[in-house]
Amino acid sequence: MEYDIVIGMEIHAELATKSKIFCSCPTEFGADENTHACPVCLGMPGVLPVLNEKVVEYAAMAGLALNCKIANFSKMDRKNYFYPDLPKAYQTSQFDLPICTGGTVTIDTPDGKKDVGITRIHIEEDAGKLIHEGGGGTLVDVNRCGVPLIEIVTEPDLTNAEDARIFAEKIRDTLEYTGVSDCKMQEGSIRFDVNLSVKPKGSTELGTRTEMKNLNSFRALMRAVQYESKRQIIELKKGNRIIQETRKWDDAKGVSSSMRSKEEAHDYRYFPEPDLVPIVLSDERIEEIRSTLPELPEAKRLRYVNDFGLPEYDAEVLTAKKALSDFFEESVALIDEPKMISNWLMVEIPPLLKEHELTAEEIPFTPASLAELIGLIQDGTISGKIAKSVLADMFEAPEKAPKTIVDEKGLAQMNDSGELEAIIEKIVDENPKSVEDIAGGNKKAYGFLTGQVMKATKGKANPQEANKIIREKVQAKIDS
Ligand code: ADP
Ligand code: MG
Ligand code: ZN
Repeated sequence: MEYDIVIGMEIHAELATKSKIFCSCPTEFGADENTHACPVCLGMPGVLPVLNEKVVEYAAMAGLALNCKIANFSKMDRKNYFYPDLPKAYQTSQFDLPICTGGTVTIDTPDGKKDVGITRIHIEEDAGKLIHEGGGGTLVDVNRCGVPLIEIVTEPDLTNAEDARIFAEKIRDTLEYTGVSDCKMQEGSIRFDVNLSVKPKGSTELGTRTEMKNLNSFRALMRAVQYESKRQIIELKKGNRIIQETRKWDDAKGVSSSMRSKEEAHDYRYFPEPDLVPIVLSDERIEEIRSTLPELPEAKRLRYVNDFGLPEYDAEVLTAKKALSDFFEESVALIDEPKMISNWLMVEIPPLLKEHELTAEEIPFTPASLAELIGLIQDGTISGKIAKSVLADMFEAPEKAPKTIVDEKGLAQMNDSGELEAIIEKIVDENPKSVEDIAGGNKKAYGFLTGQVMKATKGKANPQEANKIIREKVQAKIDS
């Protein structure tokens, strides 16, 4: 029997607020353990939380960016649980009235566009971190307690590992774009949980699902989906049933294993948070928040195709990352060569970033430098080939202007045709066989001669100029 895979995701993203959700402790990552704490985020008896307004704004922005409906009225609830890393012993979250509902995200997959439903987005607080000391017991760091989160819950609309990855990346990119989260996976700012079940092909009834929490890379996410779907299919083929449970994905071993049986909503004894007032957003306020949203990748992509005449593919690559699209737009503002800028950003710069272990956010030189480099090609100072070597130097010495690098290394093309002519004359003299070939109709020999000229000039000959002179000199030889 063949099986369909069904996947729904829960995504936690830390919001980029300066202070925590209910107190003024900083949210900054990487401080000494237990230094960002106060009676409120430690949940001392009698303290009163106050909801950070920015959290509401960011959650609504995320909802708007993911095409959700933003509630005029929502409220916070207590989710009771034994959390060793959250001293309050309950998490302040949202239960039946979340701030956002009913969104859709369209993803581009190898099989075309697909819609993924967003069930809800709710606001909640993060828990602290447990640090398991080798043999020395477990320590707790409460700095993360009370860092604001949104949890995005999807419909079970995803059907394979690749689509799940594309979707997860799109959510990451969108949250990054809107600035509601820094989405640093390595710092746990965004974390993905995968719910997965399988069912006989074509059946409309969903199978029993398992959940794998905190997949911390896109690769781990894909591998976890591949492994878990196979495991479930094998169990069913053996005649076993799937147990609804939370499973741990071990990325090093490449296997998932049972962690605990799944708790149900009623296990948490949710009740309305008595210490916080409901969240009331008027339609005007929601529209005001909408107006603060930056242009999102899709709109930007269209604009790149229409206004800059870029191919769809370029527009897609450039807009996927905000940093890249910002760099592109700043460069285009300085030199009106969108396609050339795009080529440099898509083709030449990425391998150098990789070599220097930098991300697209960390291009070491400015858009002005890239624009200057392209200007040097356009005005014939250097060839495209030399420009690539200048680019490599720009990674080494980003503060140096491209023009300075060209001057210091003497890379400017030979525009003195007298010098070039002398070099070509010599090469043509030294290669009578090539002249003979050309006279006999074998034009390929031109390529050889051009190569010799480039070698002799270390690539500095202006190619058009060189070709012209080679043709003249060869013709003169044939005629003589
Ligand atoms: P819970 O309240 O137990 O967390 P939800 O109904 O809120 O469960 O679903 C949590 C996630 O699991 C959602 O992303 C949802 O799409 C997904 N999900 C629910 N049922 C299934 C299923 N049978 N197979 C795969 N995913 C599922
Ligand atoms: Mg849930
Ligand atoms: Zn605090």
